[in-house]
Formats: sequence, C-alpha cells, structure tokens
Amino acid sequence: MKIHEYQGKSVLASFGVPVPKGKVAYTAAEAVEAAKELGLPVVVKAQIHAGGRGKGGGVKLAKTAADVETIAKAMLGMTLKTHQTGPEGRVVRRLLIEQGVDLEGAREMYLAVILDRASGVPVFMASAQGGMDIEEVAEKHPEAILKEAVDPRVGFQAFQARKLAFGLGLSGATLAKVVPFMQNAYRAFEATDSSLFEINPLLILKNGDVLALDAKINFDDNALYRHPDLREYRDFDEEDPLEVEASKFSLNYIKLDGGTVGCMVNGAGLAMATMDVISLAGGSPANFLDVGGGANAEQIRNAFRILMQDKDVKAVLINIFGGILRCDVLAEGVIAAVKELKVDAPVVVRMKGNKETEGKEMLRTSGLNFLTADDMTEAAKQVVAAAAGAKR
Ligand code: ADP
Ligand code: MG
Repeated sequence: MKIHEYQGKSVLASFGVPVPKGKVAYTAAEAVEAAKELGLPVVVKAQIHAGGRGKGGGVKLAKTAADVETIAKAMLGMTLKTHQTGPEGRVVRRLLIEQGVDLEGAREMYLAVILDRASGVPVFMASAQGGMDIEEVAEKHPEAILKEAVDPRVGFQAFQARKLAFGLGLSGATLAKVVPFMQNAYRAFEATDSSLFEINPLLILKNGDVLALDAKINFDDNALYRHPDLREYRDFDEEDPLEVEASKFSLNYIKLDGGTVGCMVNGAGLAMATMDVISLAGGSPANFLDVGGGANAEQIRNAFRILMQDKDVKAVLINIFGGILRCDVLAEGVIAAVKELKVDAPVVVRMKGNKETEGKEMLRTSGLNFLTADDMTEAAKQVVAAAAGAKR
C-alpha cells in the first residue's frame, strides 16, 4: 500500500525522525490558513502517489499568502505528469503546505531502506548525490550509492549507521545527528512492516541539522492486518476505481495494459496459466478477475459486471476449475449477469470439475449465446479470434 508524503512524514515524526512542519490542505482556503499558521515562506507540494513532482511542477515556493492562494488554486485539480505517473498523469486532490526550508548552503542526500529480494533482508541505501536526479546517479554512477544489509535478528546497528555516514562524508555534529536519524528511520521501517522507505532529499542544513525533506513509504499489504491505524492512510482516489469496487466484494481484479480479453478465473495459478495461453494464442489479456475458491452466484454476477465496465474488454474468457466453487453455481451467476447486463461481448466458457455436466447444460439451455470449450488452448484460440472480430 502506498501513502502520501504528508502521511509518511507523520509516520517518520512519530519515530523521532525530524521533518519540516507542515499541514495537509484540500482547498485553497485551507492552504492559505495553513501557511498563516506555519509562517511564510512555505512550499506548496502536490500529494500524489508518485515521485518526480519537483520536475513536473508539483513543488512550488510561495512567499506571500496571495502566492499560496494562486499556486494552490492552480495545483488542485491539475493533472500532474511526472516520470513516475505515466503519460496519463494523476489528478491532484491534496496539498502539503510545508515550511519553506532555507536551501542556501544545504546539501541534498539520499536515504532509503528496501527489502532486497535477492538477499532476503532489508538493505539501507545512501548517497551523497541525492535530490531530483537520483535515478541518473543510480544509472551512471552506481558506485555512488552505498549499501548496508541489515541482519533482521539484531536490527540495524549503530556502527552500520556510522559507516554509511562516513561514506556520505559527514562528520562532527552532523554525524552525531544522522546516526540516530538512520536508526529511528529503521525502527519506523520495521515497526510499520514497510517494504520501502525513501527519504530523498535527506537534507543536511548549513548549521549541521538533518531533515527528511521528502518521504515515500510503501507498506506490505500482507501485514496491514496488524496496523489498523496505518490502513486509515489508504487513499482510494489513487487506486483504479474498478480494483476498489472489486475489493468490496472480496474479488481480486487486476487491470492490465494493452489487452482486449477479459479473464474470469478462480485461483492465482489458473489466472497466470490463462494469461499465458491467451498470449500463446496471439492475444493479450485486458485484466484478470480472480473470484477465489468459494464464490457464490451473487459474487460471480458482480465479478462479471466489473469485468464488463473495463472498456478495453472485447471478449471474455471464463476459465473455472470446479472445486468448492461448483460449475453449476458459476453458470447460474454468469447467466444472471449476462441477462441483466445485456452483455454485448462474446463470452467463452471453459469449465472443468465439480458439477461440470450440470453447469454446461445450464449454459446450453439458457437461450444465450455462449461459446464453450473443453480445454484451455481451444478456449484461448476461440476468445482471441472473438476479440479480434468483436465490435464492442
Ligand atoms: P519529488 O521527489 O516528488 O520531486 P520533493 O519533496 O523531493 O519532491 O521536492 C523536490 C525538491 O523541492 C527537493 O529536492 C527540494 O529541493 C525542494 N523542496 C521540497 N520541499 C521543500 C521545503 N519544504 N522547503 C524547501 N525546499 C523544498
Ligand atoms: Mg523527492
């Protein structure tokens, strides 16, 4: 789960990591109010679940209350495009109004904690060349990025923090501040079951103070049940509306780019296999919707409705293994959905297993025009051909 910068900063602050003072604003009036409380100048920062905002026009300095109002009005509702949003961009609905920090003589560094899949442990990363061009540094000067693997049994150690700090060229009072900064950041990472922490820039002020000027945090979805408070940070506006709708019915819907075949399956493994056979048949999936093991006819009806709202879908492949979800229950749900929604796309059904004969019989006598197939390859070929010829 991704969260906004202002939320990430409040997580950091609660673990003793210094951040600038700031307030979230949903309207221009709230932005002006926040600026008055914080004192000018302030920086107006677009809150979207993507980085690169500085370069895309989503971070602006405001010296007067009038500036705050003008900038906030322009930013709220704008579609911000950055190298992380993709060409469609993201609509800005929230702003962070933050103390304008004096960057004169300050240095922008980089700090991150990630879960490294290769070594299977959290890894601290740091670079003296932080700021808005970190991607370029990573590409051209990978040696400028320092790494320190953490043994999760003992946690991140003070000597490791000192090693990183020395590597960043820090010393004296700043070193004494950056070591607890890193240790607190690690405590926050671990305690929140995060999968990513990125503080870029990590700001080293002229007077030696250390500040997290930006914060990007991702939580591990599978651990969210342990953190009801963090779950509150979820912003549905940042998610695909159909994925949100599906989650309400305990359905797992995933939108995919560029395809034309809608897939309804049960089980993640079958979803993968189905997408593979569609590709082998020369087509590509527009999405997949996993209805899970024990879906009922009502859930199947909702699943179909969600699938058909995806405008990229030209034809549907239903590939179900009848186990706890029986083929006749599936057929009942699908027939109800197709009738109710007046589905205009070709639907190919391949079902195997529990109550298969009954399910097929129901489809055949439904008076609706289903295409059926007995094996996956045949089903995939049918649906790819149907999608190519569909008018939808
Ligand atoms: P992004 O990573 O999305 O571009 P950042 O929060 O890192 O957004 O901001 C981009 C740049 O804007 C920073 O590198 C910094 O130079 C400047 N900046 C961000 N917040 C402040 C602030 N509160 N005061 C002064 N400058 C800031
Ligand atoms: Mg940043």
